[in-house]
This record gives sequence, C-alpha cells and structure tokens, in this order.
Amino acid sequence: MVKYSDLTKNTAKYSAEIEEAVRRVVNSGWYLRGKETERFEKDFAAYIGTTHCVGCGNGLDALTLILRAYVEMGVMKEGDEVIVPANTYIASILAVTENKLVPVLVEPDIETLQINDRLIEQAITERTKAIMIVHLYGRCAYTDKIGELCRKYNLKLIEDNAQGHGCSYNGIHTGALGDAAGHSFYPTKNLGALGDAGAVTTNDGELADMIRSLSNYGSAKKYVFDHIGRNSRIDEIQATVLDVKLKYLDEDNQMRRNKALRYIQKIDNKSIKVPSENYWKNSVFHIFPILCEKRDELKTYLSYHGVQTEVHYPIAPHKQKCYEAWASLSLPVTEQIHRQELSLPMSPALDDNDQDYVIELLNNF
Ligand SMILES: *Cc1c(COP(=O)(O)O)cnc(C)c1O
Repeated sequence: MVKYSDLTKNTAKYSAEIEEAVRRVVNSGWYLRGKETERFEKDFAAYIGTTHCVGCGNGLDALTLILRAYVEMGVMKEGDEVIVPANTYIASILAVTENKLVPVLVEPDIETLQINDRLIEQAITERTKAIMIVHLYGRCAYTDKIGELCRKYNLKLIEDNAQGHGCSYNGIHTGALGDAAGHSFYPTKNLGALGDAGAVTTNDGELADMIRSLSNYGSAKKYVFDHIGRNSRIDEIQATVLDVKLKYLDEDNQMRRNKALRYIQKIDNKSIKVPSENYWKNSVFHIFPILCEKRDELKTYLSYHGVQTEVHYPIAPHKQKCYEAWASLSLPVTEQIHRQELSLPMSPALDDNDQDYVIELLNNF
C-alpha cells in the first residue's frame, strides 16, 4: 500500500536525536516556559527572519491571538472586516469569527489556488482592517500587489503559514512577509511536532508582548492581569522536538519539491491538471494538489489499487453548517476546487518506486 504520508517513516530520520532531546527535558524537571521554548523561539525567529517568535498551543490559537492582540491594542474592533481566501482551511476563518470580526471571502485563482489578488480591492470597505493570506498547500500566496493594497488602504497583512514553513518570496521566508504570521506545528505539517504546537512570528515588539501576555492568562507579570487572556503555551517537549526538526526543514522541503517535480514531469493524462512550473517554483509542497473532473472516481480507483489520497478540502467554508449565513453565496472557483481537488501521496519519505506506481496508475486512468 502507498500511504498518503507515512509519519513513522518521516520521523525515523530524526528519532535518535529527538529521543535524546526529550530525555533531557524529562530529566530537567522543567516542562513549560523554559529554556527549550526560549531556544526554539529564538531559532525559529532567526530561520523565518523576524525579530520575534512567540510559541503557543497550536496554529488556530496563533491566528486567534494575533487578531485578539490587535483588538486589545485598539487596531481593530468588533465588526471590522478581515479579507480571507474563500478556499482556505476553516481554522483561518475561525480565528476571525472568534474575535467577533467579520471574514470577507475572496475567490482564489485557479492556477495558483491562492487568493486572487485582482479581486481583493473590490472587497475592501471602510471596515476592512486586514488581509489574511494563507500559503495554502505550501505555495506562497503573497504578491507585490497584495503588499501595495495593504499600504494603500493601511491594512494589516497577516499570514497563515500553517502549511508554508520554509517557503519564500524573493528570498524572504513566508512568515516574515507581513505584519504577523501564525504557524501550526500539527504533526503532518512541513515542520511538525509530536502533538499540538504553534507560534506567531512578527517584527512588531508591541504585538509580540501582547500575544505573550494574552497566551499567559493576560499576564506579563506573575499574578498581575492586565488583559482577559487565555492559556495557550508550547510544551518544552514539543519545543525541543521542533528545534531538532528545524535543522532538517530545508532538506525535507527539497525532497518534497523533488518529488513534486517528478509528478509534474511524469503525469501525462489529459483529464488530470497538475501544478504548473511556475506553481512549482513557489511551493514547498505541503500538499501536492491535482484537479480532476472525475475526482471522486479517481480517488476510488487509486484506493482500489492501494494508493491513499486525501481531499483538501471536500466542503468549502461557505457551504459548512457552522457558517450558515453564507449558504447562498456563489463562489464558483472555490466550489470547483472543492469538487476537483485531490492530494497525491507526498512526504519527504515517499519512495521513488511507490511514486512511480502512483504515476503509472494516474496515466492509465
Ligand atoms: C493546520 C492549519 C491550521 C490550524 O493549525 P492547528 O495547529 O491544527 O490548530 C490553520 N490554518 C491552516 C491553513 C492549516 O492548514
């Protein structure tokens, strides 16, 4: 069987180093907000290229805390609007609505699968305070035009970099392209922990301090509470695991990109649309997405032949029950992606022979 992503195999490469690092934490007697967190925050900020990194519980919290901090700082208030790509994973949108801000959905471009920058300006209103770009599938969503719009309308640029670790734009890593970025280290992400973890990166010291306080019950000083905060921390154990894996991130991403290129060069079936060369240049392939009108049939066929695939994602946010008010919206490009997208097996440990088998099946479909 060809697995979608074999986490045991992916982790094997660093398991000895991880076990040693975890043993050190176990024996240290210090499990939260200590040296390991501090080191990872420093190393991750240096990698991304920002002055600050604040660890937190998960990716959703990272995004929620960024917006919450802007509300606390008076930059945004209830009812203000945040532009988001309509085809994003639900967590980007949950972070907005949790803060009583209003998500404004903008259609993606069918070539890049990222927010269509030609459609953003018409979605900007008096209440718009931010654009949240999502480097979906590991492909960079930033464009110069998005940067210009943020400057022109004085909007915050927030990056959801849950899927884009290691991706870059003109030599700048995603996570350092905007005012603040939320990162997820969910186990399957390009930089994944052995459990839940997340982080915010930013060059804004005031924002970083606010997020640090909000994630620690709203307290910057022990037992003094200036804000109504929450508890969202990164474990020392997860921080040390991530610090081990961070050293291999570029190498792992290169392996993903090599495999993506093999798919692109070898898949030859008119009914399957693979990412373009331009797409390839700008992606670290958290996900390798293809589009196929007979997506469900193709998925069943591959599964019958022992190949696991995924769909990212089967139901668009505006079609979800939790956001019923959007039910009548028509977003044809988003809906097409949700109808046609199929994610092929993709991970640094994907075996060449297994991949060739998948490609052969695709070409015979
Ligand atoms: C995974 C993911 C998140 C949420 O991260 P968690 O750590 O699971 O909370 C947010 N946005 C996107 C695009 C994601 O893929």
